[in-house]
This record gives sequence, C-alpha cells and structure tokens, in this order.
Amino acid sequence: MASLLDYVAFALVLALGCAIGSFLNVVVYRLPAGLSLLYPPSRCPRCLHRLGKTENVPVLGWLWLRGQCRWCRTAISPRYPLVEALTGGLFMLIFGYFGWTWQTPGYWLLTSFLIVLTLIDWDTMTLPSVLTKSGLVLGIVFQTSWGWFQGQGLEGFWQAILGALVGLWLFDGIRLGGTLCLNQEAMGDGDPKLAAMLGAWLGWPLLLVASFLACVSGALAGGLGMASGWLKWRQGFPFGPFLALGGLGSLLWGAQLLQLYRQVFLLPL
Ligand SMILES: [Zn+2]
Repeated sequence: MASLLDYVAFALVLALGCAIGSFLNVVVYRLPAGLSLLYPPSRCPRCLHRLGKTENVPVLGWLWLRGQCRWCRTAISPRYPLVEALTGGLFMLIFGYFGWTWQTPGYWLLTSFLIVLTLIDWDTMTLPSVLTKSGLVLGIVFQTSWGWFQGQGLEGFWQAILGALVGLWLFDGIRLGGTLCLNQEAMGDGDPKLAAMLGAWLGWPLLLVASFLACVSGALAGGLGMASGWLKWRQGFPFGPFLALGGLGSLLWGAQLLQLYRQVFLLPL
C-alpha cells in the first residue's frame, strides 16, 4: 500500500520534472541558435513581453493563457506544455522504478539529455556534439561513482568506457555499411556519438538492447512514413529520437528483455 508520504513524493517529483521540462524547452529553442540559456528570462518571441510568475508555471501557465501570448495573442505551441508534462511523467516513472537511490537523479539527468537531443534532432536534423560529449562525460562519471559506492572499485569506469566504445564502433559500422549499400549518407555523424553516450550510461549489454529497439522502431516508423506518403523514398529522417527511445526503453525494461532473450535462445549467460 502506498502511504501518504509516497503520494507527496510523487507529486513533488512530478512538479520537479515539469519545471525541468520547462528549462529543457528553453535549451531546445536557444542552444541550436547559439543563444544564452540563462538570459534573458522567458518571453514571447514576437512582442518580447516577459512572462510573469503565473504565466511561467509549467503546463498550467499555458492552459491559463489558453495557448497564446497575453499581449499580442501570438499562439504558443502546445509542444511546450507537452514537453513539460512528458518530462514530469518520465521523472515519475524513473522514480517509481529506481526509488530512493542515487540512480534516480542520475537517470533524470540522462532523460533530460535524451529529451533535448530528440527535439533538436527532430527540428534541425543535427545532434549538437556539445551535448553528446558532455552527456558522455556525465555518463562515465555516473557509472564510475555508482560502481565505486557499491564497492566495485573502478569496475564502473571500465564498464562505461567499454559501453561507449561499443556504441561508437557499432554505429560507425552501421553508418559506413549503410552508406556503402545505399550509395548515400545513411546516418548523421551525431548518431554514433549519441550511441557512445548511451553506452557510457547503460553499459554494453543494455546498449545492445537499446540499439536493437532503436533500429526496430526506426525501421517501423520509416516504413509507416513511406506507406503513408509522409516520407519520400530515400528521404532522410532523424535517427536520434529512436536512439533516445531505445535508450529509455532499455534503461527501464532492458534487463527483462535480456532475460527473455536468454530463455528463448537457451543461452547460459
Ligand atoms: Zn507576445
């Protein structure tokens, strides 16, 4: 039975996630444009009216304004509150899964990176290396410290390095193979870096699960996109969102998927 304290904790985590999501929106909007992330404070992109305290509350502010600027009536994209709600939901999911451990804030950080990278890749078809590189370093730090505090010495560090290398090599290989087969650029050069970042956070076994999930979901979406006429034949689409989705799926259910795989193929691992 969940106690009252649990409900309070989940509500606080939801509020924290929505507030972080609000900042992630800012990063997605400003980082590719080379603007400062901290200054100026949130304002309407058209009339530059600065958002007041109540207008700035995640999700509720947008609902209260009915999706438009109070001064010039410019529509504010529903994507902003959706990203805030999504971040809040994922923060709750991770908290529900990992509870009161150091993994929870670590994976909140990873999730925040994945949300930002997904949206920037979606908007601009690029994965800024300033994000994939800093995410990689944070993943190594996270794995190393987690292993250290569990009394495994530097085991976590080597796991992170190995995971990052497997991710980099795997997707550099896929990229090269795809480019040779298709005779055109098969994948952006940011995707192997994102795979390396995921490898550092997840370790190589879960990275392989993430890659599998990413390729299956990417192929499905590509097929559906072409069948519906939304994508043209050989038209590129961003792969980063699928890697992020695979990474998140692997983080939450990768262990069970690996277990299932071993049972089906009777592997003695
Ligand atoms: Zn305005």
